[in-house]
Amino acid sequence: MKTASTVPDKVSKAEAGYVCTPGCNYLCGECQFRKGESQCAFFGPAAGISFTEGSCNAWKSGDPKGVPWLKPYYGFAELGYAENKNGFGCKRCEHFGAGKNDCEKVDRKSPGLTPGIISAEACCDFQKPDKERAQMTDGKLVQILKASPGDRVLRFR
Ligand code: SF4
Ligand code: SF4
Repeated sequence: MKTASTVPDKVSKAEAGYVCTPGCNYLCGECQFRKGESQCAFFGPAAGISFTEGSCNAWKSGDPKGVPWLKPYYGFAELGYAENKNGFGCKRCEHFGAGKNDCEKVDRKSPGLTPGIISAEACCDFQKPDKERAQMTDGKLVQILKASPGDRVLRFR
């Protein structure tokens, strides 16, 4: 059961599909559903994806350990597949309050990972690339986000 937010106009971490895997950029190349050189178990062998720029709402950390093709296949839009050359995550999301460990969409105090905060290293289904931070490398983002000392899981590669 998904947990509701206690803050009006915000969704809970559970409702948002909030995940946090420090060191990840939430790319297909870091997801356990990737297959072959450029395929995804959800989209089938005929649909090419990018391991270095793509991601979707079904992202799950891990090595692909023989995940079968998952028929019937989804279309890209159904799982929110998108591409960004530097990856995704709160640190590149326009909803993230950089320096505040907060988010304008997701209730930071709702039950779930990273209690009490929205981590720069997390991600969720509402990720929307920020005009400037989405284009930055991890190294550049470290300089900007290290002004957020309250982020207990802020560790970049
Ligand atoms: S498209 Fe989604 S499920 Fe498939 S490999 Fe990429 S992140 Fe994983
Ligand atoms: S900052 Fe963006 S990716 Fe992170 S929890 Fe908020 S909406 Fe989701």
